[in-house]
Amino acid sequence: MKTKYIFVTGGVLSSLGKGLASSSLGALLQTRGLSVTIQKLDPYINVDPGTMNPFQHGEVFVTDDGAETDLDLGHYERYLNVPMSRKNNTTSGAIYNSVIAKERRGDYLGATVQVIPHVTDEIKTTILSLSEGDSAPDVAIIEIGGTVGDIEGLPFLEAIRQLRSDLGRDNCLNIHLTLVPYLRCAGEHKTKPTQHSVKELLSIGIQPDIILCRCEQSIPAEMRRKIALFCNVDQDAVFASVDVENIYEVPLKFYEEGFDQKVAIMLRLPARNAHLEIWEKLARDYAEPRGKVTIAIVGKYVELKEAYKSLHEALHHAGVDNRMSVALVYVNSEEVSEGNVAAVLNNCDGVLVPGGFGYRGVEGKIAAIRHARENRIPFFGICLGMQCAVIEFARHVAGLEDANSEEFNPLCAHKVIYLMTEWFDFRTKNLEKRDAGSDKGGTMRLGAYPCKVLPGTTAFDAYKKPLVEERHRHRYEFNNAYKEQLAAKGMVFSGLAPDDSLVEIMELPDHPWFLGCQFHPEFKSRPMDVHPLFREFIRAAKKYAE
Ligand code: GLN
Repeated sequence: MKTKYIFVTGGVLSSLGKGLASSSLGALLQTRGLSVTIQKLDPYINVDPGTMNPFQHGEVFVTDDGAETDLDLGHYERYLNVPMSRKNNTTSGAIYNSVIAKERRGDYLGATVQVIPHVTDEIKTTILSLSEGDSAPDVAIIEIGGTVGDIEGLPFLEAIRQLRSDLGRDNCLNIHLTLVPYLRCAGEHKTKPTQHSVKELLSIGIQPDIILCRCEQSIPAEMRRKIALFCNVDQDAVFASVDVENIYEVPLKFYEEGFDQKVAIMLRLPARNAHLEIWEKLARDYAEPRGKVTIAIVGKYVELKEAYKSLHEALHHAGVDNRMSVALVYVNSEEVSEGNVAAVLNNCDGVLVPGGFGYRGVEGKIAAIRHARENRIPFFGICLGMQCAVIEFARHVAGLEDANSEEFNPLCAHKVIYLMTEWFDFRTKNLEKRDAGSDKGGTMRLGAYPCKVLPGTTAFDAYKKPLVEERHRHRYEFNNAYKEQLAAKGMVFSGLAPDDSLVEIMELPDHPWFLGCQFHPEFKSRPMDVHPLFREFIRAAKKYAE
C-alpha cells in the first residue's frame, strides 16, 4: 500500500489540541493494524525551537537522533509508542535555510528563487520524505502549526493544496479542527467561527473533508448538519472533540464518534477493526486510583505548565502504573530558601528538580534538595536537578563549601559540574561554534546515548538491565576529578557512559530513594510503557506517604 496522507489544519484560535487530535487519530489507526507516523510543520522562522524560551514555547522535546523539536512530538511518541526523529518536525526557518543554501550553491541554475515553487517544493519534499524507503508508513498525518489565516502559514497550506493533485484524491484527506463555542446565555452552540475559518481555507483552495469541532459539550445533530451544509462536507463528516479530564481518553471518544471509521472509509484504508483494549485499560486505571501522592516540582518555569509537558505526563504515567493519583505542586525555586523550605515542602511525598538553564533559582533548588536528603523524602533530580544534587552534596556532606557548576560560577573553588570542552570536540564537533559565542543553536549534547547501569543500585532495581539508552540535552557534565572524594562520603555513581568517561546517574544508598540523572528520562515515558525511574520514584513516594 502507498502511504496515505492526512493533513490537519487548525482554525479560529490556537491551543485547540491539534497535536492531541492528530496523535489520537494516529493511535486509533494504529489499533486497526496500520503503521502511522506524524509530522509537525511549524510556521515560525526559528530553525528549531531549541533557542526559544520555554516560557513562550513550552518544552523542547528531544528525539533519539538529537533533534530539538516541538512538544507535540512528545504527544506523537506517547500515543503511537514509536520514536520520532528529525524528519517528524520542520519549521519555516529550516525550510528557508535549506532553500537559501541551495540558492548559494547555485542549485537553482540561475532561476529567480520564489516562495512558489521553490519554498513550496522544499516543503513538499520534506512531507514526502516520510513515505520514502522500505519503512514507509501506511498513513502519515501532517499537522500544520498555527491557525488558518496566519500570513506565515501560507506556504505550508499552498504546499498541501498542491499535494492533493500530486498524490491523488484517494491518497489525501484534509481535516480541519475548529472551535464550536457553547454560548451559555443563548443556550446553544455557535457555528459561525467554523464557517469563517472554512471560508478562509477555501479561499486558498483547500476544501476540508472532515471538520473536527472542539467543544465543551457534544454537538447536537442539527448543528452538525448545519456545519456540514455551510462547509460543504458530508453530513457524517462533522465530529465533536469534547473536553476530557484525562487526555488518554481522547482516542476512545473519537472512536465513539466514528471519526477513525470515516477517515478509513474516505481514504479507502483496509477495513480492519480497531482494538481499543489498551486505551480502555488506561482510562479505567486512571479513573480508579487507590490513593494519592503529592509531588513538588521545584523549578523555574512553573508559571507555564507546558514547559514541563513530558515530565508532567511521565509522572502521571507512573501514577497510573502504581494506581495512585499524582498531585503536582509546582514550586517556584526563586521563592525557596533554607528558611522557608520546610514549610514549602510540607505535605509533599516526593521532591523533583527538573532540567533548566542559568543560575536564577538554583539556590532554592539546592535548599529543596538538602531538605529532601536530610528528611529522607524521595528525591528525583533530572539533568540540572542532578547537577544541583551533586553541588548540594559536595557543599554540605563533603565540606566543599564553594562547590558549584561552571555554568553558575566559573570562578568557584570546586567546579563539581563543568564544561567538558574535549567533549564538544570529539562528539559533536561543535567546539568551534561554541567558542564563536554567537551561534546558540545545537551546541549541546543532544539525543540518545548509552548508559551502563551498575547492578545492586536503585537505578538497576528500576531498569533491571545493565545497559540502557537515554536522551540528553545539556552542556555541562559531572567533573570526574571529584568522583573519589564524593564516593568516599557515600555518593554512588550508578550510571556511567560505557567507557566510564561520563557520570550519567548518581544516587545515595543510605536514603530511601535519592537519584539524579544527567539525561531526561521523561522523554521516553509512555502511558503503556512507563519509564522505570518514574515508576520507582512514585512507588517510593507512595511508601513515604504511608
Ligand atoms: N544547564 C545545564 C546544562 O546545560 C542543565 C541542562 C538541562 O537541565 N537540560 O548542562
